[in-house]
Amino acid sequence: MQKKNGKACGSCCVGMNRACPCCSEPIGDIRCRPLEKVFAAMSAPCKFRATGCMETVGYNEKRSHEASCPHASCRCPFDGCSYEGLLLYNHIQDDHATDAVVAMGCLRGTTVTLHKSKPFHVLLHRSGTRVFLLLNGGDVLSGRSLSLVSVGPPSHANCELLYKIELAAVVPGPGELALSASSTVPCVRRLEGFEAKAFLFVPDSYWGSSGTVSVTVHV
Ligand SMILES: [Zn+2]
Ligand SMILES: [Zn+2]
Ligand SMILES: [Zn+2]
Repeated sequence: MQKKNGKACGSCCVGMNRACPCCSEPIGDIRCRPLEKVFAAMSAPCKFRATGCMETVGYNEKRSHEASCPHASCRCPFDGCSYEGLLLYNHIQDDHATDAVVAMGCLRGTTVTLHKSKPFHVLLHRSGTRVFLLLNGGDVLSGRSLSLVSVGPPSHANCELLYKIELAAVVPGPGELALSASSTVPCVRRLEGFEAKAFLFVPDSYWGSSGTVSVTVHV
């Protein structure tokens, strides 16, 4: 038992109407200072040791370290593929090359023909490390939501990745606007559970009779 002042108390306080009978100090909502100190001093290996991280981090820093640890593994986004590791870029080149993977250009952008029923299109950055997914979300009414996400470790805070997506209307319908949007690229290690906070809304009418749109992505 612990009193509010953090001093440890003996068994005298247990079951005594939440007040200590020997000093009448209230018991409850108590902090356990000695234990807090023990936790703060405790350090443990990063949970990505198996994939090469040799860091030992304190209890309080463990979460933030593991969120940005460069040795954290990434999950392959393709349905039915169980790959999880550090070499997602190479894995996609080796195992999913036919799944419409294109190499990204930096200045001119990369143009992708996206089918309405396809949940994402993989883009491999020319740098040879980053994997981007052009997401085609079905969570909005009367259209689709397009956005870009990177599957990999977070970018450094001082050099955020920016992207721009533009829709090229093959035959612009009457009254149709040119659509484009830009934002920062969120980085995730797995696609499951990810929800884009910002996206380009593409109304149903833009998808045409072929059910496709032509999208240009700049990163
Ligand atoms: Zn007591
Ligand atoms: Zn680590
Ligand atoms: Zn895979």
